[in-house]
Amino acid sequence: MQTYWGIDLGGTKVEGVILSGSSPDSVVFRHRIDTEADRGYHHIIQRIATLVDTMKAETGYLPEALGIGTPGTLDPTRQTMKGCNTTCLNGMPLHRDLESTLGTSVMIANDANCFALAEAQMGAVQDIAPNFRSVFGVIMGTGVGGGVVLRGNDGQAFVLNGMQGIGGEWGHNELEKDGYPCYCGKYGCVEQVFSGPALQRYYQEISGTSLKLPQIVERHQQGHDPHATATVERLLENFGKAITVIVNILDPNAIVLGGGVGNIDLLYTEGPKRAAKYVFNDRFDTPIVRPKLGDSAGVFGAAMLTFK
Ligand SMILES: [Zn+2]
Repeated sequence: MQTYWGIDLGGTKVEGVILSGSSPDSVVFRHRIDTEADRGYHHIIQRIATLVDTMKAETGYLPEALGIGTPGTLDPTRQTMKGCNTTCLNGMPLHRDLESTLGTSVMIANDANCFALAEAQMGAVQDIAPNFRSVFGVIMGTGVGGGVVLRGNDGQAFVLNGMQGIGGEWGHNELEKDGYPCYCGKYGCVEQVFSGPALQRYYQEISGTSLKLPQIVERHQQGHDPHATATVERLLENFGKAITVIVNILDPNAIVLGGGVGNIDLLYTEGPKRAAKYVFNDRFDTPIVRPKLGDSAGVFGAAMLTFK
């Protein structure tokens, strides 16, 4: 049987999956272990090797290739990792070290790219635009990461990593002049305006009270907290403005919103109306959809990197 192997490397967990095909019910085996990232880079390599050994032993299959989704990205020129919030990975030749340790070919992509690939090919986009030419997937949670999926004339979908490995990194476009400093070294990034922590920080600044985002949204809907309403307005208006940057360039067949902020219903009802104000068109027709694969998108997308 043909199998496809994927690893989702997170800061706390590393998860592996073996798929037999491109549907969510084609899972042959799935397993997760602690990353133990605090023990450093070489330990992380060993944890991945341990996981792959378990996958082999439990199923009797061997990987032809292995896809891996990571925080940050592999710099295509330097062949080292960059932009990882698991900071011990930065500057390290993860691709080379995994190939030599595991003895198999490895495809690396950013975790938001894996999310976008899985939702495009296996998840939400299949319901509305199965013959898509392009999809933009974005995880709006504690950070904001994005990925572009394209389909070539041969019918094969693939992630657009880009010449510098930053394809889809919409979360670090400048959205607010003189805005908050971002960990990336710039100011006023999309991520500093409407990630979950950024919205909570904004609410706290104007109200003096610290609340989680779902409570802020609830208070807005109850209609008696003007600070909550101002925070939700900040999200909707800035989301509308920022998403048209993608639509004016890529004009994708669908946009998929993952992450905790992506759970907010108003993004799907009011978001397109706000975007219509800014888009280079007389209407905003781009479908904005919820993801379907939940926590599985990252690891499924990693396995799909090995599809030929
Ligand atoms: Zn940034």
